[in-house]
Amino acid sequence: MPSSSASSSPARIRFWGTRGSIAVPGPGALRYGGNTTCLEVRADGEIIILDAGSGIRPLGIALEKEFPNEPTKLTLLITHAHWDHIQGFPFFKPAYHPKNQIRIFGFDGAGASFRQILAEPMKAPFFPIAMRELSAKVEIKKLSEMKFSLGRLEVQAAFVNHPGICVGYRIFTSAGSIAFLPDHEPYEFFLHSARANNLSEEQAKKTAVEERAKLVEFLRGSDVLILDAQYTDEEYECHIGWGHGSISSVVSLALDAEVQTLLLFHHDPNHDDRMVDAMLKSARELVAKSGRPLEVDAAREGSEILLEGKIAAA
Ligand SMILES: [Zn+2]
Ligand SMILES: [Zn+2]
Repeated sequence: MPSSSASSSPARIRFWGTRGSIAVPGPGALRYGGNTTCLEVRADGEIIILDAGSGIRPLGIALEKEFPNEPTKLTLLITHAHWDHIQGFPFFKPAYHPKNQIRIFGFDGAGASFRQILAEPMKAPFFPIAMRELSAKVEIKKLSEMKFSLGRLEVQAAFVNHPGICVGYRIFTSAGSIAFLPDHEPYEFFLHSARANNLSEEQAKKTAVEERAKLVEFLRGSDVLILDAQYTDEEYECHIGWGHGSISSVVSLALDAEVQTLLLFHHDPNHDDRMVDAMLKSARELVAKSGRPLEVDAAREGSEILLEGKIAAA
């Protein structure tokens, strides 16, 4: 299968969708992009797709072009079922070709099985083609382990702080590791219900400290961390409990976890390119003030990162 031909090339990450919440095409999103969450990771012979936001549509077109006739094996890892992370799947061309084999992994959401979550948006009256009519060999697998292997890759998952069930993934490749937390709210400011249920204020504070410490360990030493940085600190004040990060909390988490490169991600649909530039600048200033080594960039649709952290193409 063509996915194995990638084994000798360096691990790389390509951003097909960097936006949070809803796709925003238009002149304000020309540089950072308007499509919602979708990344492609090629490493150790595997083609891994992280989330299936609207960015998965152009990725599907590119894959069809690259592998027009060969059977292709693809693995989708889904963080959670919010629309901006699954809405592109019905428009993913490789799912409509019998030569392809697609495995989709994710955790059950609150009250619904992972299979239901994926099939529901493709049911009438929402969509004209049902999931069972897709002609690729599509295998939907519910995850229950927090550590598993995909070929030669080791993957770890961690539940993060977001409304409902949501995970982050860390993929360990032979060239280093990539952590992907597209949606996450800092524990220190708000604890979502799965963890906060029936806790006193005192207990909630203690839980928040413990959960953050666990997350720091999960991320420790990542070569690349792709992290929800939707809001400025000022905006965050009006969006506490919405499930997303703020610039200073994102920088402090990346510094504490001693990651090499931080990518600001899940750009707010109300932020144009200049606003994202300004947020990147403030993140870099915070890093400079800390005096510690951390490379920071903002994820750009269409850009690629080699695992050494260098941006290879725009
Ligand atoms: Zn999202
Ligand atoms: Zn979400």
